Amino acid sequence: MCGIVGYVGADHAKEKIIDGLKRLEYRGYDSAGIALPIDGKIQIRKHVGEIRNLEKIIGEPEFDSAVGIGHTRWATHGAPSDLNSHPHGNSDNSIAIVHNGIIENYQEIKEWLARDYGVTFKSETDSEVIAHLIGIFYDGDLLEAVNKAVAEMRGAYAVCAIAAAEPDKIVAVRKDAPLVAGVGKGFNFIASDIPALLKYVRQVYLIENNETVVLTKDDIVIYNEEGRKVRRDVFNVTWDADAAEKEGYEHFMLKEIHEQPKGIYETLTRRINDDGSIRLDGISMTKEDIENFNKVYIVACGTAYHAGLVGKLVIEKMAHVPVEIDVASEFRYRDPFVDENTLFIAISQSGETLDTLAALREAKRKGARVLSVVNVVGSSVARESDDVFYTWAGPEIAVASTKAYTTQLICMYLLGLYMGKTKGTIEDDYYDKVLSDLKALPDKVELLLKKEDEIAEIARKYHRREQVFFIGRGLDSGVSYEGSLKLKEISYINSFAIAAGELKHGTIALMEEETLVFALATQDFLYEKMVSNVEEIRARGARIISVAKEGRTEIEKVTDEVIYIPDCIDEVSPVLAVIPLQLFAYYVARERGCNIDKPKNLAKSVTVE
Ligand code: GLU
Repeated sequence: MCGIVGYVGADHAKEKIIDGLKRLEYRGYDSAGIALPIDGKIQIRKHVGEIRNLEKIIGEPEFDSAVGIGHTRWATHGAPSDLNSHPHGNSDNSIAIVHNGIIENYQEIKEWLARDYGVTFKSETDSEVIAHLIGIFYDGDLLEAVNKAVAEMRGAYAVCAIAAAEPDKIVAVRKDAPLVAGVGKGFNFIASDIPALLKYVRQVYLIENNETVVLTKDDIVIYNEEGRKVRRDVFNVTWDADAAEKEGYEHFMLKEIHEQPKGIYETLTRRINDDGSIRLDGISMTKEDIENFNKVYIVACGTAYHAGLVGKLVIEKMAHVPVEIDVASEFRYRDPFVDENTLFIAISQSGETLDTLAALREAKRKGARVLSVVNVVGSSVARESDDVFYTWAGPEIAVASTKAYTTQLICMYLLGLYMGKTKGTIEDDYYDKVLSDLKALPDKVELLLKKEDEIAEIARKYHRREQVFFIGRGLDSGVSYEGSLKLKEISYINSFAIAAGELKHGTIALMEEETLVFALATQDFLYEKMVSNVEEIRARGARIISVAKEGRTEIEKVTDEVIYIPDCIDEVSPVLAVIPLQLFAYYVARERGCNIDKPKNLAKSVTVE
């Protein structure tokens, strides 16, 4: 969540830091600030609200330097305010820091700093203690002081520090929060995320947990926890810088919805050989491993969890192994039955989701084999897993996930097929059928996206509703949850998803004249049951928008609107059925004038508990 950008070069640090911070704006933040060493002193300027508020107070040319650190904050401790914004200084501002994450024992540290050193605190943040700690340990060597400070800290952090007495360097350290160093010529960068740097560098070092980095204009030196220098290969960023821009779409979310055919195609074709066999690069599970798994856990949060709901049914069906699914924040605290014969699948777009990371560690501790499905290469979840299955969705910027979800679904199918084929639990004909329907998906999604105007029209008609239900059976039930989440997170409408058969056990009490219900009816073998469920709610006066496969027209008789998706086998229909729901959510939010790419209270990657 929140962003860090640091620059060490020959001049004009301010401009580069602000530019980098702006590229991280999409992540969601509540304030921004910058610290520069100028004439032997550190000057800190910060402001609540958008970066342009900060720009108004840093305009004068004298406020600049060759070195500096900047931050966009997403408050966890203390309200968004000028004082709580980062950077934070120690008592005489001889040290300044920016911090992403949470210092769990900050109260304890605060007490002893106040008691033993008479420190007074200017902010309510946990982060401020870091600046004071470094200040107290500082004896002319910033690296040493940072290391000593870190030894006192518990929690998750990416921290960058500068010292007035060493104005030519930045020292940074990370634990459970991302950090990358960008390699330039005569300058270097440090940042929480690669997009912040792409305008200036293409080569980066991915900093690992518990490593410390010292950046000067000509050098980047990485140290491990024991203080030994570490050699790291550079990582060449091949993404097009334009991939991080909107490319003419009004919002990143719409652009990303339209990028789904490409993401699905990439995710599939990189793994399917000409003979139809599946090649799982980066996955070293043997036949014996797969045969020995007696249980699979899929653990994730939010949209990734919804991909897991589909994954559960698909893997159970194809690989004949029981699959449990859980949200990461619950899994990690419930002492789950995990052992050496468990396959643990973590799904996370960013690969930095703290709850998922913690659940993964818990599973690993208990001996599970950990496979992660991740979009961001080199992210923490990826690095800590035994095997990584990358989704090739490309950078996803809108907070509401779309292309990451559909590519996560593709990974679920490929895993199910691969495991099933290896174990011999699926027939060849069935395997071929699923594979050919998967391969047809990019074109079918493209076709479906042509219905954008039709869906936008439906959204215009219903956008004033304050309550919407999503229902479905089987695989459609998992998609209902995703449709509901999409709508609520960007339009702030109170939406609710429920398995259609479960409605009559309570929730149907809420159905009344004009209640809006999205009914997903794409599962052929459950179609009639679904039609009956729709009749039940229609009898209570509800208005119904259905999603059905082309040619299954019976549902027209009982619904107000039907959006048809291209025909396909039931198994792969979630990839198609979710598209109208994404577009509906988008156009409803647009009609309501919502901030679609950056919904209130949300951030792109959730790196706190
Ligand atoms: N915990 C810190 C704060 O509340 C940092 C939050 C962030 O990651 O931006 O200021």
